[in-house]
Amino acid sequence: MTVQGNILVAGTILAAPFIGSFIGTLVEDLPRGRLFARGRSRCDACAATLGPGDLVPLASFLLRRGRCAHCGAAIPRRLLLIELAALLLAIGIAALDPAGPRVPLDFAFAATLLAVALIDLDCLRLPDALTLPLLLAGLLATALRQPAALGAHAAGAALGYLGFTGLRLLWRLLRGIDALGAGDAKLLAAGGAWLPPAALPWAVVIAGLAGLAGVALWAVLRAEAGGGRLMRQRLPFGPALAVGLLAMRLAT
Ligand SMILES: [Zn+2]
Repeated sequence: MTVQGNILVAGTILAAPFIGSFIGTLVEDLPRGRLFARGRSRCDACAATLGPGDLVPLASFLLRRGRCAHCGAAIPRRLLLIELAALLLAIGIAALDPAGPRVPLDFAFAATLLAVALIDLDCLRLPDALTLPLLLAGLLATALRQPAALGAHAAGAALGYLGFTGLRLLWRLLRGIDALGAGDAKLLAAGGAWLPPAALPWAVVIAGLAGLAGVALWAVLRAEAGGGRLMRQRLPFGPALAVGLLAMRLAT
């Protein structure tokens, strides 16, 4: 393990909870069009401006026992979970690549997928403001690290987009419904920029299995909560696709 590799791994793990904290803001504010519009961070309940001591990820939440220091209102537990998820992703990625050079890039990919998946779960929408930069970043990373593979990754991105768009239009023609969103095609294209083309079909297979598992889990939880009609419900495919893309990125 090189000194440079150590610094990359340690830096990524230390930065992860802060990036998780940013993802929490992003997930709340981006779909509502108010990202960066609120200025400094404030308590949602009492509007007190939060100081540096309130904004240390994980630690602030634990020290203040999940409550605002000014008014005592409960801080959404979800924020803590997102910070924790980002930290666990960074540790997992570092464990898979202990030499380090790929760790920051893989974590950036994973963190963006986490934000995309959470927004899709919330709003059934995959914002272009995340999928398109993810696509460009993937092409840029490939151009810098494996210039010979750039053409193949660009072709994979294009085929992924056309494949999902074709499926979407076919399904609309046959069944009159939108089974896939336009955002899913853009997310698969972004994945194509990051993955070798041969890995892309496997990412879709894993996404399909993850989606089925997610639906089954959701149906069980819902049945326990009193039932409800599942088949007419629109389901987000973005989180499942994010799982498939991340699994194949880390496996290749
Ligand atoms: Zn407060």
